[in-house]
Amino acid sequence: MAKYKLEYIWLDGYTPVPNLRGKTQIKEFASFPALEELPLWGFDGSSTQQAPGGSSDCVLQPVAIFPDSTRKNGAIVLCEVMMPDGTPHASNGRATILDDTGAWFGFEQEYFLYQDGRPLGFPVDGFPKVGQGPYYCGVGFSTMGDIARQIVEEHLDLCLDAGINHEGINAEVAKGQWEFQIFGKGSKRAADEMWVARYLLQRVCEKYGIDVEYHCKPLGDSDWNGSGMHANFSTTYLREVGGKAYFEALMAKFAENVEEHIAVYGPDNHMRLTGLHETQSIDKFSYGVADRGASVRVPHSFVKDGKYQGYLEDRRPNSQGDPYQIASRILKTISEVPTP
Ligand code: ADP
Ligand code: MN
Ligand code: MN
Ligand code: MN
Repeated sequence: MAKYKLEYIWLDGYTPVPNLRGKTQIKEFASFPALEELPLWGFDGSSTQQAPGGSSDCVLQPVAIFPDSTRKNGAIVLCEVMMPDGTPHASNGRATILDDTGAWFGFEQEYFLYQDGRPLGFPVDGFPKVGQGPYYCGVGFSTMGDIARQIVEEHLDLCLDAGINHEGINAEVAKGQWEFQIFGKGSKRAADEMWVARYLLQRVCEKYGIDVEYHCKPLGDSDWNGSGMHANFSTTYLREVGGKAYFEALMAKFAENVEEHIAVYGPDNHMRLTGLHETQSIDKFSYGVADRGASVRVPHSFVKDGKYQGYLEDRRPNSQGDPYQIASRILKTISEVPTP
């Protein structure tokens, strides 16, 4: 038997963007525990905007477990928040989303590293001498600084140790801005891994005195890029059948549902989806092959040989978006298009 450190993590009740919370309990197991072996736990919902003080108990229901290589016998236990009667709490968006293991999602999480209230590497006043240009996939101290890469590398290793399908890293267009990609089969699995990856990133940053800024346009109306969380998606049908007619019907359905998609694609997206900086305007819907100014980018591989098969990239979700809601909305629109 060994004593395991179980970090139960959950999303709190703050709106429009929930915060990650976590606390540790120690339990003894013969080996790394399976999800089914993990007990329910509770917390004080009055401290997380999830309950009134007079009746503050909320329940943590484990839904996924990941090894935590930063701790001896450590595990991260992702939880849904439940009411004492076992029904999902109002803040528990995961419980009710659409899922389909044949639907695959690849999320590209962009974010800024922030120190002392400004992007890492920005001078105390104003902007860096060198504007956007050298930072995207950049290399060298004067461009990248010395801490950022330590952080993203450490984060990558933690994700891989946790069994998360981390697929890659790149430095982004703005100074201090980075991206990582997470791929998963099923909306719950992909989104679970994204939330745990976000959690790990924030935790790694603590010891560097750095915060993760997920806001989609932290530098406002300037010549500095915002942050997205492009949602790449495919279904079994899109991968195996596809075809031009189905694709066009699907895009027409996306065009009909612009507001419904934008509603769950993250707050303040009007600041980012301006038609500039590789975005389409928030109220328009467009798609195009290799078009980074479109709402949906169609990869070359998709249209190859006229097959219209594979995955599509919805570029509108932003960096603060909830991957559960984003994936579920995409599945809903897909479900409204009949397959022959
Ligand atoms: P870019 O920056 O050019 O948009 P990235 O390489 O950052 O591209 O991201 C591409 C994403 O597409 C990755 O997250 C990957 O997991 C995802 N992806 C690739 N194939 C599929 C697929 N068949 N279904 C869903 N997502 C996919
Ligand atoms: Mn990318
Ligand atoms: Mn990017
Ligand atoms: Mn992309």
